[in-house]
Amino acid sequence: MSGVGPKRAALLKSELGIATIGDLLRIYPFRYIDRSRIYRIADIGGDAFVQVKARVVSRTLYGPQSSVVPADGPKILWNAVKRLSVIVEDSSGQMEMVFFKGIRWNWEKMVPGSVFVFFGKPSEFNGRFNMVHPEVDAPLPEGSVLQNGLTGVYPSTEKLRNGGITGKVMCKMQSAALALCLPEIQETLPDYILTENALCPLNYALRNIHFPADQYALQKATRRLKFEELFFLQLFLLKQKYIRSHGNPGLSMPKVGAAFNSLYNSLPFELTGAQKRVIREIFEDMKSGHQMNRLLQGDVGSGKTMVAVLAALLAIDNGYQACIMAPTEVLARQHYANICKYLEPTGVNCAILTGSSTAKERRGIHAGLEDGSIGIIVGTHALLEDKVVFHRLGLAVIDEQHRFGVDQRSKLWAKGPAAEGGTPLGGNTHPDSDRIAPHVLVMTATPIPRTLAMTLYGDLDVSVIDELPPGRKPVKTILVPDNRKNTVYGFMKKQIALGRQVFVVYPLIFESEKMDLNNLELGYEEILKYFPMPDYKVAIVHGQQAGDVKDFNMKAFAEGRADILVSTTVIEVGVDVPNASVMVIESSQRFGLSQLHQLRGRVGRGADESFCVLVYDFKTGKEARERLELMCRTNDGFEIAEEDMKMRGPGDLEGTQQSGMPINLAIASLARDGVLLNEARAVAEKVLEADPSLEDRRNALLVKELRKGKYDIKDYSKIS
Ligand code: ADP
Ligand code: MG
Repeated sequence: MSGVGPKRAALLKSELGIATIGDLLRIYPFRYIDRSRIYRIADIGGDAFVQVKARVVSRTLYGPQSSVVPADGPKILWNAVKRLSVIVEDSSGQMEMVFFKGIRWNWEKMVPGSVFVFFGKPSEFNGRFNMVHPEVDAPLPEGSVLQNGLTGVYPSTEKLRNGGITGKVMCKMQSAALALCLPEIQETLPDYILTENALCPLNYALRNIHFPADQYALQKATRRLKFEELFFLQLFLLKQKYIRSHGNPGLSMPKVGAAFNSLYNSLPFELTGAQKRVIREIFEDMKSGHQMNRLLQGDVGSGKTMVAVLAALLAIDNGYQACIMAPTEVLARQHYANICKYLEPTGVNCAILTGSSTAKERRGIHAGLEDGSIGIIVGTHALLEDKVVFHRLGLAVIDEQHRFGVDQRSKLWAKGPAAEGGTPLGGNTHPDSDRIAPHVLVMTATPIPRTLAMTLYGDLDVSVIDELPPGRKPVKTILVPDNRKNTVYGFMKKQIALGRQVFVVYPLIFESEKMDLNNLELGYEEILKYFPMPDYKVAIVHGQQAGDVKDFNMKAFAEGRADILVSTTVIEVGVDVPNASVMVIESSQRFGLSQLHQLRGRVGRGADESFCVLVYDFKTGKEARERLELMCRTNDGFEIAEEDMKMRGPGDLEGTQQSGMPINLAIASLARDGVLLNEARAVAEKVLEADPSLEDRRNALLVKELRKGKYDIKDYSKIS
């Protein structure tokens, strides 16, 4: 293609992943400049992007503390310059353009008297509007083409710009690509889907996404391309799900027997409606004859463990074993202690296997699993070792899913019972073995927004426990700036005097970051000063401690011997201390909302009124503070996750990075296009219902598109 030499081609490939002209056309503008409208400076008011055509009146260089850097001498001290301010005017008024970067270059360009078109987001400052880092263009000759249309702004990088691929060059390339390809562009959606959903054809969409004829055409093009993207992603996921639930045999567990009933009938409390519903959903799966792949979502304390144990007992009643895998030793031990209590009336034999099990313990456990005398095994990654062989593994429960990698999950898959008579045809077996995969239940306490769940777990069935056991009091959440920390210490003292215990949590985003650890240690010392021995006892836990030191401290707190536990987020993974009713979170502005919500779930488990104190850097900006305020308004994890996603985008939410799913889509947004996502999923469902294996000729285009493998995430279908 003209204008793209080998150098530029290489740059496009490395920076944007563009290898073909077709790829190029699929790089869409993320914004449009309305060149048909030039604002008068006097008319600027709101927050939208605007374009003004104005003459440079004066330019000034500023150094630190807004001192003026002299610019009339022979030599300008560029190192002292922090900011360039340019005053511009049109016939209606004046405004300021501000540059913090590219100062020298812009200084040379902004010669008083010259006229430019400035594009940017105006903001009000001291009663006047200014623009920071506007895009600057020479005004186009009156009546030229661009002057009357929407012009796309493309994603760019420093390297691209330096390599000569500026916004304008990108526009030119797109225009050339369209001229070259448009007649040959192949539709990706069958006619019937276009008609039924009032979608415009692909060539119309591509032309208008790059060079919109008008707003209306742009809207149509955008809708079509977003729909296409969401539709194929859902079609891919649903097809996986369909293959699994309809095509493959699974272990059939139709019986409800003595083990299940003896626990069910001896529960000291009534299950919540949500728990009952979820158990029914799980049982339907387990008796269906197809492998279960179910995600169980529920806030901390909603009673997921209870559900998991009942599911495990169903497996036992049908002659199988179950394993429950937790991400950490501490959590595995806690699960084990709880589960043993639950299992007392059932007589089912339960064991625990972790990295710290002794060789002798291991031998006993390995033998018990192999001969089937152990019914339920709780453990950590140690369960995945090759030496662990089950007699008949029927159910694998994985707690806190996002901490386990895909590879580890597929190891569990291989521990199912041997298929009778060899590999079942097209069987749901591990690729490297002749074993039938156990049913899989993944539990997560990280609430995920619905649209994200539909993408991350689109091929799993999802159960939600959306109801807390009765009698739980919502945690009261308070915001305190860190220059008023004395009030927090005062409050802690009062609570401790009432016999309560307090968590103090510091952020440790990267476990290796020395600075974070310093903060923690400084904080610990400060707390020791305010809470001296022997009146107070303070324990400390962090990731750099040896395992036994950590356990010792954790235990001291869990058993009520320490009043305060100072820690990094290691407690996030689920220790249960009912007497701890206060959670103080330091530098809370550095945590994600979902993570704060998780932490907050650690208190409020007992009968006492409980509190979460979010201490934030008093210099924290307005936006970040508003984020924190949401925590005070609601205790609903899903609402918090939705908001978190809207504010930060889906890519930054906890647990999404590791998923490998394309959540940062080319044009659609999981945060904003929920309605369209639902439509696209419904259409994909309808298509598969009518034609499960996509054999119908009118679906040939769909098969072709799916084959391109864009949505084919390696190994993802084997989440279990
Ligand atoms: P999760 O795993 O979802 O965080 P758990 O299963 O650990 O929640 O339950 C938290 C606590 O609530 C446990 O002490 C458990 O015994 C108790 N619990 C579970 N279900 C109920 C219920 N329906 N009514 C009252 N208490 C319950
Ligand atoms: Mg739990």
